[in-house]
Amino acid sequence: MSKRILITGAAGFLGSHLCDRFLNEGYHVVGMDNLITGSMDNIAHLMPRSDFDFYHHDVSKFVHVPEALEGILHFASPASPIDYLKMPIQTLKVGSLGTHHLLGLARVKGAKFMIASTSEVYGDPLVHPQTEAYWGNVNPIGPRGVYDEAKRFQEAMTMAYHTYHGIDIRIVRIFNTYGPRMRINDGRALPAFFSQAILGEDITVFGDGSQTRSFCYVDDLIEGIYRLYQSNYTLPVNIGNPIEISIQQAAEEIIRLTNTDSKIIYLDLPVDDPKIRQPDISKARNILNWDPKVERAEGFESTYQYFKTVLQ
Ligand code: UDP
Repeated sequence: MSKRILITGAAGFLGSHLCDRFLNEGYHVVGMDNLITGSMDNIAHLMPRSDFDFYHHDVSKFVHVPEALEGILHFASPASPIDYLKMPIQTLKVGSLGTHHLLGLARVKGAKFMIASTSEVYGDPLVHPQTEAYWGNVNPIGPRGVYDEAKRFQEAMTMAYHTYHGIDIRIVRIFNTYGPRMRINDGRALPAFFSQAILGEDITVFGDGSQTRSFCYVDDLIEGIYRLYQSNYTLPVNIGNPIEISIQQAAEEIIRLTNTDSKIIYLDLPVDDPKIRQPDISKARNILNWDPKVERAEGFESTYQYFKTVLQ
């Protein structure tokens, strides 16, 4: 009998890549998604498999899975700023009520419980690069607060179940990630720039483009998450690529790569947009022996190829 795990957000960008990875490792995967931001296209190739089950369900409501589970990976949530601005209540509920339901399920099943936390727990950071020891600088009532505070609550709740109920937990703090299966219109910088470049539209840089991010290719991220899941480390671990670039530079690289005639235009910077972001990944290096491997040129190229096929 293969080991069975539940992945929530299975039809999303990261969730679907995680399903692939765990299936490749011989797990039986139960995927769950309410499809408010996920897409069945991301898991269509898995539907015929007998070692994959899919439940169309909102984990903010009671979650029932009849079979034994070795682990639960909670990756369901709107995750891009325009999504959580459009769906603030759902974002708060999936991080809070959803997490509570899944922790209850983990307790009943004796399952390991992993959550997808985020660099957003650090908010607009006053410490750079961000280590896991940093407590963050978050505006609870700002537009990003619904996501940031849901994720911070999720960490607190997960830690409480670890401390009081002995649940075996993993907390991955995910930094900006990109690659195939990102939604073209999810509003994030890289999908926006790639689609604008391919369609010959203006490239929309917010602010003056001097704000920074550190972009990790999805395959590297999934490797880090898989290693953390298999480890026995129960405190938060940053997973991301520490190479930091400005948004202006990202836009220029995409213009060069795609050979587009599109021009950069500068729009208002969204409220509470973090000015800098770079993960300190010493912990992941030491504990998981993990380091990102995919160069940006290679990652951008395969992402470009993916977006071309989606847009044609
Ligand atoms: N951004 C941009 N143009 C866009 C979308 C985003 O300049 O069309 C900026 C955004 O303001 C932020 C950075 O790019 O400073 C990364 O934004 P993204 O939404 O990708 O992720 P997050 O802000 O959550 O890191």
